[in-house]
Amino acid sequence: MKPFGYLRARSAEEAVREHAAHPGALFLGGGTNLVDLMKLGVAAPDRLIDISGLPLDHVADTEDGGLRIGATVRNSALAAHSAVRTRYPALSQALLSGASGQLRNTATTGGNLLQRTRCAYFQDTSKPCNKREPGTGCPALDSAQRDLAVLGHSTHCVATHPSDMAVALSALDATVHLHGPDGGRTVPATGFHRLPGDTPDRDTEIRPGELITELVLPPRPEGAASLYRKARDRASFAFALASVAAVLSVRGGRIEYAALAFGGLAHRPWRARAAEDLLRGAPATEETFERAVDAELAAARPLRENAFKVGLAHNLAVDALTELAADS
Ligand SMILES: Cc1cc2nc3c(=O)[nH]c(=O)nc-3n(C[C@H](O)[C@H](O)[C@H](O)COP(=O)(O)OP(=O)(O)OC[C@H]3O[C@@H](n4cnc5c(N)ncnc54)[C@H](O)[C@@H]3O)c2cc1C
Ligand code: SF4
Repeated sequence: MKPFGYLRARSAEEAVREHAAHPGALFLGGGTNLVDLMKLGVAAPDRLIDISGLPLDHVADTEDGGLRIGATVRNSALAAHSAVRTRYPALSQALLSGASGQLRNTATTGGNLLQRTRCAYFQDTSKPCNKREPGTGCPALDSAQRDLAVLGHSTHCVATHPSDMAVALSALDATVHLHGPDGGRTVPATGFHRLPGDTPDRDTEIRPGELITELVLPPRPEGAASLYRKARDRASFAFALASVAAVLSVRGGRIEYAALAFGGLAHRPWRARAAEDLLRGAPATEETFERAVDAELAAARPLRENAFKVGLAHNLAVDALTELAADS
């Protein structure tokens, strides 16, 4: 591992200032992804700015009934928080479906959002990879990996985004708050992660030196319930083959509000806008759910070994919507 400097930041301002002074630096949250990548030689920062002790560990109500979540809140604390469990169960369920208890005790909200893809070639420095070294190629395109993208991929990269939490945040319309050398700004969670296009080395819209300070969830839409479902190869720490976060409210048998996001299918959480358009105002029946989900997944372009993901995602989404409708 390359030698690196270390600073434990005492404030967000100090962390950002320190990063601006050392462009080769990286922020360190819980380290559960970054330290692994450093050991593999995939990441080689010359300085770590430890932000895990910053006073950003709050979970607090907003004035309008939403929720503010600090960037250093641990995944396990967030999943267990009563406001999250009662008002945003999809977020709690997504967090609990990810990693292991020990990892969730260490992993932070900000680090979870910025974890890197698990594409095997990305993590193997003996192989080319456009995401790790732009312009070197994408061996995954000709591979038989099952966990690659079926939506929104390009000839430059076919990797999937790994975070379960990010899928729930997309369906819940969260906002990501950033603090950087040019001040603060916000980015909707739905637009925070990118599709690969011809620049797969950029996972997100974050700018160099920007620190995630908090996430803000809007108030839950009136009468809406939410849930997260994930299909994976084994029940203990495995990334999603396909997953879905669904938010639904039904009144008088008709759908008043619907939000749907898929995980494990694309380079970013996939917000299912085409399905949502067909759901809103329609009768809350399995037939409606089937039609809406089919319309969304019609855009899928499976690769060699992953066509099964389309049917898997379809069944997860229809089941989730049916369950939410039955409970409303
Ligand atoms: C065996 C294993 C299984 C796993 N399974 C799952 C799973 O099923 N689902 C899932 O979603 N995840 C899974 N994970 C991933 C795990 O959730 C992430 O490693 C963790 O959430 C990352 O958080 P962290 O705080 O440790 O991030 P770190 O490793 O500290 O950082 C990750 C990245 O974020 C940057 N960063 C951290 N905080 C900030 C901030 N506030 N602002 C700007 N940049 C920041 C760092 O510079 C780094 O680039 C698994 C991990 C392991 C090791
Ligand atoms: S799919 Fe993306 S991450 Fe994987 S080898 Fe290709 S470019 Fe690299």
